[in-house]
Amino acid sequence: MTARLDQALARIRPDVRASHAYQVQPSHGVVKLDIMENPFRLPLPLQLKLGSRLGAVALNRYPAERTGELAAALLAHSGAPAGTGITLGNGSDELISLLTVALAQPGATVLSPVPSFVIYEMCAGQQRLPFVGVPLRAQDFELDTEAMLAAIEQHQPALVYLSYPNNPTGNLWDAEAIERIVQAAPGIVVMDEAYQPFAAQDSLDLMARYPHVLVMRTMSKFGLAGVRIGYLLGHPALTGEIEKLRPPFNVSVLNAEAGFFALEHAAVYAEQAATLRLERERVFAALQSLQGIEPWPSQGNMILARVRDAAATFSKLRAAGILIKNVSAAHPLLSNCVRITIGTPEENTLLLQALPGSLT
Ligand code: PMP
Repeated sequence: MTARLDQALARIRPDVRASHAYQVQPSHGVVKLDIMENPFRLPLPLQLKLGSRLGAVALNRYPAERTGELAAALLAHSGAPAGTGITLGNGSDELISLLTVALAQPGATVLSPVPSFVIYEMCAGQQRLPFVGVPLRAQDFELDTEAMLAAIEQHQPALVYLSYPNNPTGNLWDAEAIERIVQAAPGIVVMDEAYQPFAAQDSLDLMARYPHVLVMRTMSKFGLAGVRIGYLLGHPALTGEIEKLRPPFNVSVLNAEAGFFALEHAAVYAEQAATLRLERERVFAALQSLQGIEPWPSQGNMILARVRDAAATFSKLRAAGILIKNVSAAHPLLSNCVRITIGTPEENTLLLQALPGSLT
């Protein structure tokens, strides 16, 4: 029995066996400000209406036309120009994985500024592609344009990711820096706009001007993190290649129907996003006025801040029933940094009350 199991395990790639599964922190019963979820649910009457919509979905059939219709509706919702291609993912995480699969061939590398979204590097590793992380400027987390250009020149990356706004730092990049990077990039550039509902700018114009620029979005931060719908926009020749790798039924009929429902009620979600943007500014101003914590301005639904002892701040807040993320270990530039997701006004007030006692 064990010999058989050992033999089977020996067939699994050593790098996979040495890796760790993605961990989500336990969060039952706490104020959950750790992974950039929209804290608002739909108003109860809409939840009930959604329930009856989902109840009418034919679960015995594989997803087909409805997901195609959702793709068309998302394309229209995105504001991308006519003729833009779209591919749907089971969350944008899956799209990152598919992009990496599409590019995985000898000599290919993936490049991104760091710190940024960790899944870029994880997916590259899964395809055994070298990942080149170019450190951001330490003081303001802006792109180090010259270092980015030098790394592009040296590695000729098949794929460059620019998270816009960036996770975990929350900022948008300088427009001229983006333009120069896009011009220098020999392969695909993905503008990852997961946080677009909270940002003052987007990359649709950039995408319209450069056929090698793709824009990736998700319904997760919109308010549907549990539903799992991501989408990749861009030149149909490129999205068409990713479409070939997409598992045929990756977006379930329930996901598609919930996605539709959300688009039909986009005004409700837009109002939630507007509240979160206002709350972000309120929390930012309050953090700025506190001793022992230095926040960076954000265009996302999170704020990165440096404290004296991130592990202690995390534990003290956790003991007070508030869950944030200690991102210190993710990159040397993030030493003693915590990332705080913007919650409801009540949750943010609880955070601001608990914080002073958690900073010493
Ligand atoms: N891109 C960025 C920058 C993110 O921060 C996240 C999630 N935190 C994602 C993509 C993935 O989002 P999802 O898979 O939920 O669409």
